[in-house]
Amino acid sequence: MLSVAEAESIVFNLVRPFDGDGDVETLELLSAFGRILAAPVKGSLDFPHWDNSAMDGYAVRYEDVKDCSAEKPKVLEIVEEIPAGKPPQVAIAGGETARILTGSMMPAGADTVVIQEETKREGNKVEILAAPPLKGNFVRRQGEFYRAGDELLPAGIALGAPDIAVLASAQCVRVPVYRRPRVAIFSTGDELTVPGEPLQPGHLIDSNSYALAALAAAAGGEPLMMGIVPDDPKVLKDAIARAILSADIVISTGGVSVGDYDYVERILSELGGAIHIKSVAVKPGKPLTVATFTAAGDTTEYQRKILYFGLPGNPVSALVSFWRFVQPALRKMAGFAAGWQPVFLSAQTRQDLRSGGRRETYLWGQIQLVDGGYEFDLAGGSHSSGNLINLAQTSGLAVLPVGEKFIPAGEVVRVMQVGLAIGS
Ligand code: AMP
Ligand code: MG
Repeated sequence: MLSVAEAESIVFNLVRPFDGDGDVETLELLSAFGRILAAPVKGSLDFPHWDNSAMDGYAVRYEDVKDCSAEKPKVLEIVEEIPAGKPPQVAIAGGETARILTGSMMPAGADTVVIQEETKREGNKVEILAAPPLKGNFVRRQGEFYRAGDELLPAGIALGAPDIAVLASAQCVRVPVYRRPRVAIFSTGDELTVPGEPLQPGHLIDSNSYALAALAAAAGGEPLMMGIVPDDPKVLKDAIARAILSADIVISTGGVSVGDYDYVERILSELGGAIHIKSVAVKPGKPLTVATFTAAGDTTEYQRKILYFGLPGNPVSALVSFWRFVQPALRKMAGFAAGWQPVFLSAQTRQDLRSGGRRETYLWGQIQLVDGGYEFDLAGGSHSSGNLINLAQTSGLAVLPVGEKFIPAGEVVRVMQVGLAIGS
């Protein structure tokens, strides 16, 4: 059985991040929000676009006003008003000034702005009552923040609201982003019922497909819901074959333990899949099958593989396996240049934590921010891998390494951050 670290490194090494032209789509600016930039963006405009005023005041020649004061004001003649959006019409000569407003273009000849508060206006004359501390004061210089042609945004970043603003300012209205990895999802099991359908005795509602689709979408994937597949090897084989044809990543749940109806691994081999992982020393989530397939007709030089994750059927095991192994793989494939790996932090546990000690154990609960430090609040109730009810609102998984059977309340533990934002 592989350790979690070994399994993680196998999975991550199997993933080829998107990089080719076939993985790029061009979207209208606002649709690109949340997507991953597929190519570095360069702007063709300096930022600011031209010298402009940072304040409401008067555009002056520094030489004219550098020695003035309230006792010895300098009187300048106002030759123009420059409101926002109107280019200046005249150049400022010695003894002259232009009334200027925030963001307005600086007139030729002027190099400094004196703020309104340090002036006194009378008709078309203005008294400058204080010398600016330096030449160029309150002038935003063209290209001071950004020079046209420099890299504006690098490839591989998720586009947030500030990035959308940057792209808008750079006139970049069509944005190259990576397509979202297609994630086919199905649940196996004769006992499963679609939510909303009447429940027959001995049956169980399929929650896994829905949780996994939500997680796949949140991790940047495009979920393809393939429904429930019975424990019938022929039907299962058809379903797996179809999923492989339509997806970059396939996730199934159930049918991967050693029960009489656990066919997934055998079928993967029959379909020509290479099996990389059969089980991992992790709790919950021990039976984990990871296989790869080569896409039919793939002629690209790098032969990207389709990843198959056969997760356990137990709802908690399925989710923990997704968070630990599938989510980072999906994010890596999606093109995140950095930050696709799981995030671990140190938190003081509020409760005693227990494990059998033989497998790396993940206990679910909430991460809380208290006085600037993290605390881990273990979910109440049973920590059975079949109990999905107390998994609600999970934001962290406390990790007990192999051999660590007991961590008392108050100790600092490693916690993997998942799902929701950290509470307080
Ligand atoms: P399996 O891995 O197929 O042996 O399933 C293990 C347990 O998880 C069984 O109790 C199943 O009923 C339950 N289970 C399997 N699939 C699902 C599912 N899609 N949603 C919720 N529970 C499931
Ligand atoms: Mg089953």
